[in-house]
Parts: sequence; C-alpha cells; structure tokens
Amino acid sequence: MRRNSVETRCVEFLRTIRWPDGIECPRCHDKHIIEVGYIRTFPEHKRYYCYKCRYTFSDTSMTIFRGSRLSLNKWFDAIVLCTKGSSAMDIKNMLHVTYKTAWRIKHLLETDLLAQEIRQRLIK
Ligand SMILES: [Zn+2]
Repeated sequence: MRRNSVETRCVEFLRTIRWPDGIECPRCHDKHIIEVGYIRTFPEHKRYYCYKCRYTFSDTSMTIFRGSRLSLNKWFDAIVLCTKGSSAMDIKNMLHVTYKTAWRIKHLLETDLLAQEIRQRLIK
C-alpha cells in the first residue's frame, strides 16, 4: 500500500488540532477507541471504532472534510488561499476543481470553526 507523506503530515496535523489530548469519539467523546484500518480513497486517513457507543469513524468524520474526494493537502491549500482574499475562481484554478466545488469550498472555509483554527495554525 502506498501512502503519500504530504497527506500523512496533513492528517497528523488535523489530529493534533481535533484531538489535542488524544483521539476521542466525535459522537460520545469517549477515549476508549481502537484503530480499524483506513479510508479506501485516502490510506493515510485512519478509521477508528468506539467501544462505548460502537461508532466507527475516521480522521475526518464530522468535519467539513468528510467524504471529500479532495485530499487534506488540497483542502489546506484552499484554506491558505482563502486568507489572501481569493475568489472562488482562484480556488478553482489552483485546485483544478469545478467552479461549483470551488464556491462550496470557499463558503465552507469561511464559516467552519475547525477550518478557521487550521488557518490560524497554518499562517503562523
Ligand atoms: Zn463513541
């Protein structure tokens, strides 16, 4: 299995922001969890199982990044781009996505609290 080292660093970065005190279940917030493999589209993203509520989740579950075909690396690029007052068209050209996707990304990044926290850490 091939893992992309840039994407691995991005997902590790996301983990430290989401779970500064260790990985916990996003549903019941219990820490009694185990790793159960990875996401098929992104093998760098791990999946977990919560013993308490039996919920299976991933590094991106319950975030704006969940189920996205874009890598976290691209999302983070978009987060940095948005700080510079870029338009949806700029995001479209930079990430090679459709205008509709670019517009959606821009809107999500402007309103999402986790994205704002990531932005603050990335531009430091
Ligand atoms: Zn749980």
